[in-house]
Amino acid sequence: MLMQNIILTPHFTLQEFTESATARKYGIDNSAPAEVVKNLRRLCENTLEPLREVLDMPVIITSGYRCKALNLRISCSSRKSQHMLGQAADFFVSSRTVQSHRELLVKAFRMMLISDRIDFDQLILYPTFIHVSYVSPKANRHRILVGKGGGLYGSVTRERALTLL
Ligand SMILES: [Zn+2]
Repeated sequence: MLMQNIILTPHFTLQEFTESATARKYGIDNSAPAEVVKNLRRLCENTLEPLREVLDMPVIITSGYRCKALNLRISCSSRKSQHMLGQAADFFVSSRTVQSHRELLVKAFRMMLISDRIDFDQLILYPTFIHVSYVSPKANRHRILVGKGGGLYGSVTRERALTLL
């Protein structure tokens, strides 16, 4: 088994992406294989680490890698979820200021749209967290989705997303 406390980038460790309360509850071994670790590092380098540096606020991972067994336990998760490849993470931003959780999320989302250091495959703004995925410069689709009401999500252009926020 791989050591799970590998440093991916200066502000992120592998453990943050493999830790799961659901996995613990059901006794699922959510250790990441080498290929997944590689993908998670790429994800950090191109999305989360630059965001962390620009915002200078802690970025909290709520769900990173999901092995097949774990993914099946998460009912709302797609069967082809990029989480299963270590290509996606869900997160929120934490701060001691008076800004609300939602304001911070929107701020982080905007930053990811405008920063030239950040590239992504899919970026989704949910009511309480952001989902980001990264594949490779060639394969990234640059899809942006912003939550509407009732769990429906619409794909929008970068320009439109910025005016929505
Ligand atoms: Zn996700």
